[in-house]
Amino acid sequence: GTSRIGLIGLGTMGAALALNMANNGVSVAVYNRTTQRTHDFVDGAGELADRLTATESLEDLVAAIAPPRAVVLMVPAGDIVDDHIARLRPLMDKDDLIIDAGNANFRDTIRRAKAARDDGVPYLGIGVSGGEDGARHGPSIMGGGDGAAWERVAPILTAIAAKHDGTPCATYMGPDGAGHFVKAVHNGIEYADMQMIAEIYGLLRDGRGASYDDIAALFERWDGGPLQSYLVEITAKVCAAKDPRGAGPLLAVIEDTAGQKGTGRWTAIEAQHLAAPVPVIEAAVAARNMSALKDRRAAGEARFGAGAQAFDVPGDATLERALIAGKILCYSQGFDMLSRASADFDWSLPLPEIAKVWRAGCIIRSAMLDDMADALTDSDTSLMLSGGFANRLEDAMPALRDVVARAIAAGHAVPALAGAVTYFDTMRTARGTADMIQGQRDFFGWHGFARLDDAGRDHHGPWVD
Ligand code: NDP
Repeated sequence: GTSRIGLIGLGTMGAALALNMANNGVSVAVYNRTTQRTHDFVDGAGELADRLTATESLEDLVAAIAPPRAVVLMVPAGDIVDDHIARLRPLMDKDDLIIDAGNANFRDTIRRAKAARDDGVPYLGIGVSGGEDGARHGPSIMGGGDGAAWERVAPILTAIAAKHDGTPCATYMGPDGAGHFVKAVHNGIEYADMQMIAEIYGLLRDGRGASYDDIAALFERWDGGPLQSYLVEITAKVCAAKDPRGAGPLLAVIEDTAGQKGTGRWTAIEAQHLAAPVPVIEAAVAARNMSALKDRRAAGEARFGAGAQAFDVPGDATLERALIAGKILCYSQGFDMLSRASADFDWSLPLPEIAKVWRAGCIIRSAMLDDMADALTDSDTSLMLSGGFANRLEDAMPALRDVVARAIAAGHAVPALAGAVTYFDTMRTARGTADMIQGQRDFFGWHGFARLDDAGRDHHGPWVD
């Protein structure tokens, strides 16, 4: 065969990736379980069809690719990936490469990469962010697995990736599950960014009684400042959207129950495994879970009266600074979690490169990430303690504290923003309250504690003889 690469799964993401590759001069052999879809896809590809080869079986697919081959899987995560690997390997040569580009759980990717290493065959697990539009016009790509295999396909992946000032957003993050792990943390941060924005929207809508158009105008303005980001940009557009059925603002008729495919939840779960504190991300995941409990929330309102009362919401500039503070703290937690995972899994994750790969193509792309990349390059401490961000945080914290305090007094649920405040206060309190926890643990379980004046030895209290 002569195709430079193969791709399996012509769903939303696979079709867009194949077109992106073809558009960048890469010939692609494509295969889809439902054959009709394969032909419809190639027939509908217009002038790009020349670079696409439709195949009707995995055998034909493999035969259509020039060796050493590379095949991208863009199928639903889980058993379907294992199933494809099991069916592909016997058809492939030893140095043929399988690339899982779906949203795999990074633990599955670790397992599959290990199996591939044991068999002496190359394997990559890559996180692809940016949805359909990103996949078609330039996603952010977080690579993991066999480093030599990455080098082999890097020309294709960097060609199709989003560019930030010309720099491709496609980076090798480390061995086995590193790429999919970074993608998971990206999604956790995405949940948190979205939740903090939704909380500010709630204060404007219910606390201030602002119109959807006014809220839209405010977010549009913020998109021109330090909060410039894809999520703030689309927030303005979502606020401004009108109901096609004519009922007025579209948001007013959207049910307040958030869906999730679970990648943000994975981040919270993995954070617990790593003992990495990410309270803003956890609050965002919990908020989605609470949003699903619509009936229970209605029963709560009937029993206790409604929350989210009108109040004197701080001014726009204060809200903006509150969101800036929340964002810095959330990203600081995310990068700390990455650095913890890097140590635990022996990955050597390149934190500044991660900030860079998120600057374009992905959902959390923002102006601030550019500064974060610099801060993470210049300092090996936590983002919130690094020079520029420590100063920004110091400046913005009073606003966040004020917004959260007043919101809570008026019965508004602001779990992510409040989580950011308590994280900040915890992480700037050298003498905390865990002395009490240690006292309690020693009392009931004889677990022992360290003494401030006699470190290095286990001590016990006088609770028992
Ligand atoms: P779609 O549902 O649009 O497409 C799924 C594809 O997988 C189809 O080609 C389908 O083939 C094929 N498929 C499904 N089940 C099987 C099976 N049992 N055996 C063989 N082929 C099967 O999914 P997406 O393109 O949205 O997602 C693909 C991957 O990309 C997932 O891992 C997803 O999490 C990830 N992803 C998705 C993003 C998004 O925004 N949608 C963003 C980033 C990652 P058929 O036509 O025969 O049904």
